[in-house]
Amino acid sequence: MKTSDLGFVEISPDLCKGCGLCLEVCVPRVLELAGGLNRFGYRPAVYLGQGCNGCGLCFYACPEPGAIQVFKQDRRRAA
Ligand code: SF4
Ligand code: SF4
Repeated sequence: MKTSDLGFVEISPDLCKGCGLCLEVCVPRVLELAGGLNRFGYRPAVYLGQGCNGCGLCFYACPEPGAIQVFKQDRRRAA
């Protein structure tokens, strides 16, 4: 695990409206919009898979309840 991977996010594709607000606030730029559409015709946000610092800004920026969840890595397991 890289030292920058202090957290990770899970995005529920069908709850995301593809507004892009989470992408705007993410300092390490580890979110992007998917190439495909969800079942409602939106391009959902996706996590690139590494580099999240667990800051939670994307969670607070998101207007769609439940669309994005942020988790802190257990740093005791990082060694
Ligand atoms: S928790 Fe912070 S670093 Fe991680 S994806 Fe969200 S905004 Fe980016
Ligand atoms: S996860 Fe939330 S803030 Fe990010 S694109 Fe989807 S609806 Fe917008």
